[in-house]
Amino acid sequence: MREARLHLQDHSIESLRACFAAQGIEPWRAEQVAGWLYGRGIADPSQWTDLPASLRDRFIADWQWHALEWDGVQRSRDGTVKGRLRARDGALVESVLIPEGDRTTLCISTQVGCPLACSFCATGALGFTRNLTVAEIVDQVCRMREQIAPGQRLTNVVYMGMGEPLLNLPAVLESARLLLHPKAFALGPRKVTVSTAGVVPKIRALLAGVPVNLAVSLHAATDAVRDELVPLNRRFPLAKLMEALRSLETVTPRRPVFFEYTLIEGVNDSPEDARAVARLVRGLPSKLNLIPMNAHEDSRYRPPSDAVLTRFAGNLVRLGLTVTVRRPRGADIDAACGQLAARRAAGPPRSEPEASEVVTGRRAGGPPRSEPEASEVHLAEGAPTPAALLV
Ligand code: SAH
Repeated sequence: MREARLHLQDHSIESLRACFAAQGIEPWRAEQVAGWLYGRGIADPSQWTDLPASLRDRFIADWQWHALEWDGVQRSRDGTVKGRLRARDGALVESVLIPEGDRTTLCISTQVGCPLACSFCATGALGFTRNLTVAEIVDQVCRMREQIAPGQRLTNVVYMGMGEPLLNLPAVLESARLLLHPKAFALGPRKVTVSTAGVVPKIRALLAGVPVNLAVSLHAATDAVRDELVPLNRRFPLAKLMEALRSLETVTPRRPVFFEYTLIEGVNDSPEDARAVARLVRGLPSKLNLIPMNAHEDSRYRPPSDAVLTRFAGNLVRLGLTVTVRRPRGADIDAACGQLAARRAAGPPRSEPEASEVVTGRRAGGPPRSEPEASEVHLAEGAPTPAALLV
């Protein structure tokens, strides 16, 4: 029965070796299979020409190799691509490809919906359906790679799409092992980042399991404000979160914690908030990414003015923090941080797809690629106060 078949993408190479051994297939075939599936990006075993035909037939008969089908692709004016992918049970998963000069970053999802219900996040408003499988996480990378422009390659993967990665830790670990393995996606450990809203008891296990970058969604430096923005804070308040981060031996100036701070007008954007952030993170090797709130229909929150954003970033820099301001990418196609909701477009079914939407699995004809705009501004102490922060 088709659904009962094992899935090649559900296994790290180590785990695939064990499965193969149990089936009487030479374990080293695992590396060979990973080379085709992930290294070369050829999913169909009938094309794996250096395998014996009998083995190819066995893979075709016994295993599955794509967990997701295309549901739609949208291209932003700024080059960002949002993919909507459909799992076998019909669940929709969104991933976002962000080209920036030489770098191409893919943002992947780990759950269908999210149970954390952060009050400013569109995914949170969806509620939680289920965890994604390893294969569904890995296939986002395989599928979205099909959308990369010729001459570009995938350089970074961030677990910052829909869902809370640390509530699906075994699948996140297994998928990250494939991202890092030299025979699979072969990304360097500093090129893969897992973000958490602060599931404190799982942070150490994440870093012990796989040497990725850790990002933590901070958003507030007091429990009163953070309780409102990230309800998980009521379970794991700031003191516990910071204590856990400070106890990590893997955190060093070369491997800092990346804090995300979504700046929301009138909620967490005052000079006092900046001082509280600086006090909170003092002494911990860290970098802070400031993300102006991306508005969406499920939220009453708004981004601050450019002047307030500039003042907030400048205050943090003066207080000794290393700050990066993220300019929203893909906001015109709801692909920016916190806008992923995997809803089908509202309104009557369209016969013609919109100019920016292509409902196909094939690469859309060359997008009009203008010069990549700088999407972030790095700030460090000593740098001039950011006057032209938001372009
Ligand atoms: N659950 C994990 C992974 C999601 S990462 C986590 O919270 O870290 C997505 C990032 O975008 C998080 O930092 C999240 O807080 C932020 N975000 C959510 N909604 C946003 C919005 N509307 N505008 C800007 N950033 C938002």
